[in-house]
Amino acid sequence: MGYYTWQAQESHCVICSRSLTGRQERYCSNACRQAHKRQAALTNDAALGKRTCDFCERSFWPESKRQRFCSPVCADGKRSQAEDARWDAVCQLDGCEDNAGWDGTGRARRYCSRAHQQKAYRLRKKAEGTA
Ligand SMILES: [Zn+2]
Ligand SMILES: [Zn+2]
Ligand SMILES: [Zn+2]
Repeated sequence: MGYYTWQAQESHCVICSRSLTGRQERYCSNACRQAHKRQAALTNDAALGKRTCDFCERSFWPESKRQRFCSPVCADGKRSQAEDARWDAVCQLDGCEDNAGWDGTGRARRYCSRAHQQKAYRLRKKAEGTA
């Protein structure tokens, strides 16, 4: 008996279930190894899971790890929303309600004017000095 116990652990290809021989451990052939890799990749994608669109809040299946919107329309919507927020930004100096006056490119402006920017800067320095 004892000599042949390894036969009791006869294994099968994880893809096609053909019995394996010799040194084959999980796959009977290269084709099955490739097939298993592809399967694993698919499972990986599913593991991405459903996501909630950053704009319309509908849930969707992302096609990539970085996808944040359910559709290009929502991506555009979010972009113009962010742009609107920049157009609408108000001067951050206490007591000033003026529009910060974004010029349509780059980062949002934080103050309506250079004077207010400097005033805010001086106030901040003063606050730090007394802290
Ligand atoms: Zn196989
Ligand atoms: Zn959406
Ligand atoms: Zn201002």
